[in-house]
Amino acid sequence: MRRGENNTVEIREREKGFADAFYTSAAWIRCARGYRRSVGGLCERCRKRGLIVPAEEVHHKVHLTPENINRPEIALNWRNLEALCKDCHLKEHRKQKRWTVDDDGNVTATDPP
Ligand SMILES: [Zn+2]
Ligand SMILES: [Zn+2]
Repeated sequence: MRRGENNTVEIREREKGFADAFYTSAAWIRCARGYRRSVGGLCERCRKRGLIVPAEEVHHKVHLTPENINRPEIALNWRNLEALCKDCHLKEHRKQKRWTVDDDGNVTATDPP
């Protein structure tokens, strides 16, 4: 296995440190790798704009917190994931869109009022 392949790092969570154990867990690595493969390994946002850019990171739409990191329907739910390139990932974290997950694991964006 090549080093770097599984280094899907959540910028903000990583900075806080609470998610270190999560991002190195076999469950997450398997989950993120499978998800990224399922979208063809490309940045989903760039692809929507017709650009072919490799996804370098897997983002959680509902950002991980110390409270939800142990909830698989958030932390390991493909519907809560987005494969992004570094640029798109940084942009996403700057704008802080709000997302919610319902009991069925559906993820929806909620625009601020
Ligand atoms: Zn992108
Ligand atoms: Zn992210």
